[in-house]
Amino acid sequence: MNYVSTRGKAPAVSAAEAILQGLATDGGLYVPDQWPTLDFDLDQLAQLSYQELAVKVLSAFLPDFTLAEVQEVVDASYGSQWDTETIVPVHDDGNLHYLELFHGPTLAFKDIALQALPHLVTTAARKMGLNKEIAILTATSGDTGTAAMSGFADVAGTKIAVLYPQVGVSDIQRQQMVSEPGKNTYVYGLEGNFDDAQQAVKGLLGDEKFGAFLKEQDVQISSANSINIGRLIPQIVYYFYGYGQLLKKGQIKVGEPIDVLVPTGNFGNMLAAFYASQVGLPVHHFTVASNENHVLTELFETGVYNRNRDFKVTNAPAMDILVSSNLERLLYFASGQDSQLIAKDMQALQEKGVYQLSDKTRQGLAKFSAGWTSQKQVEETIAETYTKSAYLLDPHTAVAVHQYQDDGEHQTLLATTASPYKFPQTVLEALGEEVVAGAGGLTALAAITKTSIPQQVKTLFEQPIRHRDIIRADQIQSTIENALKH
Ligand SMILES: *Cc1c(COP(=O)(O)O)cnc(C)c1O
Repeated sequence: MNYVSTRGKAPAVSAAEAILQGLATDGGLYVPDQWPTLDFDLDQLAQLSYQELAVKVLSAFLPDFTLAEVQEVVDASYGSQWDTETIVPVHDDGNLHYLELFHGPTLAFKDIALQALPHLVTTAARKMGLNKEIAILTATSGDTGTAAMSGFADVAGTKIAVLYPQVGVSDIQRQQMVSEPGKNTYVYGLEGNFDDAQQAVKGLLGDEKFGAFLKEQDVQISSANSINIGRLIPQIVYYFYGYGQLLKKGQIKVGEPIDVLVPTGNFGNMLAAFYASQVGLPVHHFTVASNENHVLTELFETGVYNRNRDFKVTNAPAMDILVSSNLERLLYFASGQDSQLIAKDMQALQEKGVYQLSDKTRQGLAKFSAGWTSQKQVEETIAETYTKSAYLLDPHTAVAVHQYQDDGEHQTLLATTASPYKFPQTVLEALGEEVVAGAGGLTALAAITKTSIPQQVKTLFEQPIRHRDIIRADQIQSTIENALKH
């Protein structure tokens, strides 16, 4: 099995090469050229630990990695940095099952992939005989930056630089970033919003002079964003794990199809569910939940992708996005691997901001539907779920819960993407309580809901601030070059 580009104009590469490169040379995204065979049966799932399952799934999607290499990655990624031994517990509420993906170091689901990515990248580099330092440069709306730094902190042979916008990140996210102690971490606040930060990083990566600088410094740049296949593969694991937990509790029979419901932004999490279904997970239906930036709802309802609309800053900020990158990987399969069509549509998106799906592609998406949830509905859903079920939702998860429909027939696995303690201000507001900033928000939420503040953020606001730089877009190049210089 190799990895090929969705746009068809780049050579096929091994998994190791795909992970190191991030994006394919033709601007497309790497996808497997065939589906691997998993070496377990569904009826074994109830017995496998998270780590055992991770070894099996990762081995299948990384055929050029040895079993010992995969085992090392898994050992380093899913150990004591998680606050529960099961890594991904499942909380049941009738036919709805919350797949809790937020028990890692930064309290959001991105930890699942970003605890593994540094080890995947360094192993890939070793396999390729690459002796360069690896630098990760990432723009973040909050969760990717914190999770990527937590993963890459003090990993030998790597450096990570994160740019976050001055507007849009939560108190907790900002404090997590500016207090990051890793010696190889560089954090900069950027004057502007997330789009400005992302634009600045993209501009830098395409800059010739910056390329020459990297060459001279012997640095390899890689990506921690979910365009990297190394971020998607670890996410396939938890859908199988969740299915195994439903089996274990007798909530489904072996082979019984389930529904999957995912709060979606860049489409990485949902794509992982689709990949799981392609290699054997029985899925009846996928529901894509969006916030007020509902470009995807429109796509699944009308077949038209149109990014020409206002960008909204919402109370589920990790899903504030108008160009959902990983959708390209789904459309590639839905169109019957039609890379020419994908290249054409993506060019139209770049140039005009809009494209229309073919009838064939729409037929390929028959198992998908979508819906969107307003900010007000997010707050109502948090309050209602807490009152009815005594379960506290973060705003992103609430976006998905509002879209839940019990068909009385299928069990639903819902990707629960962040801890409510990562967004205490929004949760307090939703519960009709006084909103308290900073550390006070954590203690207030704990007192009111009689839950405990997660270990991961208990002393967050007592940590010294280590990164104070606020920069303008025109200072990015010199700032990053200084950070990466030997
Ligand atoms: C990143 C993120 C999402 C969106 O996930 P995608 O894979 O980008 O679709 C949803 N919720 C939270 C809390 C996130 O951090």
